[in-house]
Amino acid sequence: MVEEVYPSIFRMEIPIPRSPLKATNSYVIKGAERTLLIDSGQNCEESLAAIRAGLSELSVDLAQTDIFVTHMHADHSGLLPFLRQEGTRFFASAADADVINHMFTEADPLESLRVAACENGFAPEEAAAAIRRHPGNDIGSRDALQFETVVDGAVFAAGPFRFRCIATPGHTQGHICLYEADHKLLISGDHILGDISPNITYYWGEQNPLQQFWRSLRLVEGLDVKKVLPGHRRLFDDCHGRIEELFTHHRHRLDEAYAIVKTEPMTGYQVAAGMTWDMVYRTWDEVAPVQKFFATGEALAHLRYLMAEGKVACEQRGGRYLYSQIA
Ligand SMILES: [Zn+2]
Repeated sequence: MVEEVYPSIFRMEIPIPRSPLKATNSYVIKGAERTLLIDSGQNCEESLAAIRAGLSELSVDLAQTDIFVTHMHADHSGLLPFLRQEGTRFFASAADADVINHMFTEADPLESLRVAACENGFAPEEAAAAIRRHPGNDIGSRDALQFETVVDGAVFAAGPFRFRCIATPGHTQGHICLYEADHKLLISGDHILGDISPNITYYWGEQNPLQQFWRSLRLVEGLDVKKVLPGHRRLFDDCHGRIEELFTHHRHRLDEAYAIVKTEPMTGYQVAAGMTWDMVYRTWDEVAPVQKFFATGEALAHLRYLMAEGKVACEQRGGRYLYSQIA
């Protein structure tokens, strides 16, 4: 379905089967010479058919199109190779372009995720089952792309708009929002969504993704925004109100995770099992392994934040990471 959501900005809702998000928003802005397309769907027939139909309805010539990806996740980048023609240009941050291109160039790209799942409390069989259903496995981009990398502050002119790249790490390391100062528009990718709290996940490394995300929220809070065009679901106007809700949500989640690690050292998996989740399952045991993988990553992101606050300690024992409350 193609809809003009703001004068000269068209949204295509690209179905993403099997995802609770249901669809990815792909935005099209036609200029006098080139078209700007922001995000695609995932690598599957339904997404491809929808984006082809939408582009055809808008008479978009892909050879004259710049394709910008807000971040590397498969539901935003998986279709990119199918849209490539001579003359198509692809733009993303260096960090996320690197992940997109490594999803398939490594012999076993998700092996490091499987190992990390085990180190954080998954049983080996459940870790393997989770990674088999990981989106990077079957709906990600399957072909190397020549990205032109963008940095914070880069500007895209499209139609009557001039979009400025705002680096917003957190949801992914290289996430970028596009801000249009004259029209007060924010194309927010998955940094700020209207109905869902963006997944913030940690499995390894030195980063503190939740802290990065909070900083990125503060950054966007400083912009004058009248309309948010997110990567999923409905557009909304109250950017500041939504940012405050996200802060409150994560503060609550931090308190929850902190209370759980009070009694004894435990893995991220065990902490996730004790947290509340907005899922259709009644108990943690019923949760699909891949959903447990994302939930555990989210629990770990909160534990990592609590570590930086000096409230939680982490030790490695028997090949596993164990977290405990600092009294
Ligand atoms: Zn995402």
